[in-house]
Amino acid sequence: MRNHPEELLHFIWQFQYFDTTALQTSRGEKLQIIKPGMMNNNAGPDFFNSRIKIANQLWAGNVEIHWKSSEWELHNHQQDAAYNNVILHVVFDHDRDVYKKNGDLIPTLELKSRINYIMLHRFNAMMKARTWIPCEKQLKEIAIQEEGTGIFFQKLLIERLEEKTQSIRELLQQNSWNWEEAFYRFMARGFGFKVNSEPFYQLSAITPLQVLVRHKNNLLQLEALLLGQAGFLDKSYQDEYMQRLKREYLFLKNKYKLTSLPAHIWKFGRMRPANFPTIRIVQFAALIHHSSSLFSRMIEIKREEEASQWLYPEVSEYWKYRYMPDGELSAKGNRMGKSSARLLILNVVAPFMFLYGKERGLESMSEIAIELLNNIPAEANRTIKNFEKLGINIKTAADSQALIVLKNRYCDQKRCLYCIFGKRILTPASNE
Ligand code: SF4
Repeated sequence: MRNHPEELLHFIWQFQYFDTTALQTSRGEKLQIIKPGMMNNNAGPDFFNSRIKIANQLWAGNVEIHWKSSEWELHNHQQDAAYNNVILHVVFDHDRDVYKKNGDLIPTLELKSRINYIMLHRFNAMMKARTWIPCEKQLKEIAIQEEGTGIFFQKLLIERLEEKTQSIRELLQQNSWNWEEAFYRFMARGFGFKVNSEPFYQLSAITPLQVLVRHKNNLLQLEALLLGQAGFLDKSYQDEYMQRLKREYLFLKNKYKLTSLPAHIWKFGRMRPANFPTIRIVQFAALIHHSSSLFSRMIEIKREEEASQWLYPEVSEYWKYRYMPDGELSAKGNRMGKSSARLLILNVVAPFMFLYGKERGLESMSEIAIELLNNIPAEANRTIKNFEKLGINIKTAADSQALIVLKNRYCDQKRCLYCIFGKRILTPASNE
């Protein structure tokens, strides 16, 4: 058993998953647990504020937990005053008496004969499993009957948002907490979607927001600036509109002393024309043109439909039915698709709102961010499909985002003791 993590004993103690009838200390004194205490995740004893009765005397203090009592000395607790307030040593195997720094013997409870071995075997099996997730065999049954899944998923979703906001924080730090600038950069990266996020980010880094804001009322100038900065106006074009864009860009480039990116960094391969970076750039120009300011428009959003509508503004006449400069006209229009707008809500708007709400103490804004995710459909990827096959009910992006955290931070790291499904699988009632 010793090769199990100590967290398993913490879990057993925290939820009192052992036979608690006629408890005795290793010295044969009657023991009663009033309160197991609060788990301590920092340095010091494992549980704080526990309350126990030994031989009818009430004790309040801390509990330390080990697989063997001799680990007390192995960890040098006998020399550490922080352990003087330990009132009970809970061990799987009591192999020797141990003492506090002040010389007092520590009362010990041995669990070896009181733990449900089916639970230990189940835990063992999960830790050794080589399946896609360790509880694959049990999850279907557990997930259907598990109450409280909603609260657990909510916690996972918050973890996901915290993780996503990490890169926004870094961006804000680089920009002296200029929210407008950081949102512009982050939104630009979002417009690159998976394939062109990096070139789009570079485009925003070399194109100052103030310059775009100065020309925000003129869509042609915005397109000229962004397409030109992206390197798409270096060639000669036949269409009159493209020639105008090029002339406009050369004028603005000179005026603001701008430097453009090389066009070859943009990827077009294996992509539907509607996703071409040229189209995403003119959509981004249209978004800036139709917003008073990107950031202040974003923080006004209350509902998903409002966000979606904002994110697919109408592009200029030239680009409405064309994917490339001088390109043929296509039958389909070039407004942002609903699914792309939703991806921007998922990856840009919601994390940004969540962070802004947190940083500014605006709880309602963080709640709107979560609500947006509750109102867009779940993404379809391999992780989500696999969980669906295992019987998990996944409807919204809030669910799918929560499951991504579950897989990456819990299942893959075998942190089943911290997961609602793992706890359910290991509780004594499901082991009988
Ligand atoms: S973390 Fe939870 S869902 Fe993942 S394998 Fe463990 S018990 Fe199952």
